[in-house]
Amino acid sequence: MPKTVLITGAAGFLGSHLCDKFIKEGYRVLGMDNLITGDIRNIEHLFKNKDFEFYNHDITKYIYVPGKLDYILHFASPASPIDYLKIPIQTLKVGSIGTHHCLGLAKEKKARILIASTSEVYGDPLVHPQSEEYYGNVSTIGPRGVYDEAKRFQESLTMAYHRFHGLETRIARIFNTYGPRMRLNDGRVIPAFIGQALRGENLTVFGDGSQTRSFCYVDDQIEGLYRLLLSDYSDPVNIGNPEEITIKDFAEEILHLTEKKQEIIYKPLPQDDPLKRQPDITKAKEILGWEPQVSREEGMKATYNYFKSLPKKDLNKKEHKDFSKHIRR
Ligand code: NAD
Ligand code: UDP
Repeated sequence: MPKTVLITGAAGFLGSHLCDKFIKEGYRVLGMDNLITGDIRNIEHLFKNKDFEFYNHDITKYIYVPGKLDYILHFASPASPIDYLKIPIQTLKVGSIGTHHCLGLAKEKKARILIASTSEVYGDPLVHPQSEEYYGNVSTIGPRGVYDEAKRFQESLTMAYHRFHGLETRIARIFNTYGPRMRLNDGRVIPAFIGQALRGENLTVFGDGSQTRSFCYVDDQIEGLYRLLLSDYSDPVNIGNPEEITIKDFAEEILHLTEKKQEIIYKPLPQDDPLKRQPDITKAKEILGWEPQVSREEGMKATYNYFKSLPKKDLNKKEHKDFSKHIRR
């Protein structure tokens, strides 16, 4: 009898890759998503697979799943700053109420649960690189607070279920991850720059471009998450690639990769945009025997080829996703 795993956020970028990974490893996969920031095309190829089932459901509403469940991977949440700034209340609700439902379901089914936390729990960090011991520097009332605080609450609630109910829990603090199936217009820096390069537009660097990020290729991320789920470690673990680059240098790298001649133009830095970000992955190395294998050059080539292969109408669709049908005023 195969083990059954529920993946929330299944139609999103990471969720869809997790669905593929667990199907490949011989699991029965239940994917759940309300498609608010995801795209059903990310998982359509799985619909013919007898071990895959899709539930179109908003997890801020009570979650019902029949039968046994061995694992839950809770990935539902907007993840791009533009997305969560446009749907702030949904973001707070999915991180709090949605997480509560997932934890309650895990308790009911005696399932192990892994939650997708984030480097944003460190906010605009005063410690560099960021290790799991750092408590973070987050503005509760700033625009990014809706995401950061929802994720911090998510971690606290998860530890409470672990301590109070003895639930088996895992917490992944995910650092910027990229690859095929990111939404071209989700506003995150990699789809933004590649989309601009492909459309012949100038690349928009926010601020002076001296802020840094450390980008992890999706295949590496999925392997790290898989190992964490199967480990016996319940404290948070950073999963990311420590290779750090400034956003300005990264824009230049993209122009080189795409062989485009456009210019880099500068726009105002969004409020609370972290100045530095780099994971300390000592724990992941020691506990999971994991570290990234894919270089940025290799990962970016694969990502560029994916975006180039999208239908022209997707490439030209610059406007941000329409959330109106999900928003009740
Ligand atoms: P994504 O936007 O591509 O995927 C999120 C998915 O969750 C979408 O398919 C969306 O429709 C779904 N969703 C949102 N609210 C929902 C709800 N109420 N009910 C059901 N489904 C809902 O984002 P992603 O990059 O794949 O991120 C997935 C998870 O990983 C998120 O929890 C995010 O916070 C976390 N994470 C991602 C990164 C990254 O670099 N990609 C970094 C840190 C943390
Ligand atoms: N950024 C940028 N131009 C863009 C989009 C993003 O310079 O068109 C910057 C953004 O200000 C941030 C970095 O790129 O400093 C990474 O942004 P992203 O939205 O990908 O994720 P974050 O790490 O901020 O959550």
